[in-house]
Amino acid sequence: MRHITTHTSPATGLRGIGDTSWQPHGVCHGMDPEDADATFFPLPRDHEAIADAKELCGPCPVRRDCLNYALENDLKEGIWGGLTEAERRPWHDGLPRRLDYRRVAAFFNGRDVHLTDAERQVVIDHAYVRGWRPDRLAPALQISTKHARDLLRQAANRVFDRDRTLGVPRRKNPVKKTTVARRPRPATAPPSTQQPLARPATPTPAHAPVGKAA
Ligand code: SF4
Repeated sequence: MRHITTHTSPATGLRGIGDTSWQPHGVCHGMDPEDADATFFPLPRDHEAIADAKELCGPCPVRRDCLNYALENDLKEGIWGGLTEAERRPWHDGLPRRLDYRRVAAFFNGRDVHLTDAERQVVIDHAYVRGWRPDRLAPALQISTKHARDLLRQAANRVFDRDRTLGVPRRKNPVKKTTVARRPRPATAPPSTQQPLARPATPTPAHAPVGKAA
């Protein structure tokens, strides 16, 4: 079952989808909306206003959440997390390639977190290696079962190619135990009817010395 965090959940280091619980902890929380607009959406060359906004953001305890919120929701204008839109541009551009294993681990722990393209790919590959079936991956990624099946098939090919490139030996199928048919034992006669085997008579040598003959 997925755990969906909401705006009423306590703030954590890893924000879930739709989680706005960090906002009341921001230094700017409670500001008049017009003042907030004027402060955090200055003109690009209004250095004095930008410096004032950065001064507010500096000690803010939720700067990281604020920045992630802007990145994950593609908010490219204004100051978020203490960074101007120009300073955030490389972060926006590189976001699909961000690979934060804390998010991957959080996903497998049932958290409903934002995943970048790179993190989602790792999740799919791990799901394949863990033996997840399409009907398990589909609700976790909120996609159709058919889509999940296609993704797992692609992951299987990727893992196979990677193992072949790295020379990882393929797992052998466990050797099946073959059951050897037991040969039927010859029927033995009951003791009462068994006849003792006749020993072949040993001829006594004609020249055996007297007294030593058996
Ligand atoms: S980092 Fe700045 S914009 Fe973001 S919540 Fe804090 S004070 Fe507000």
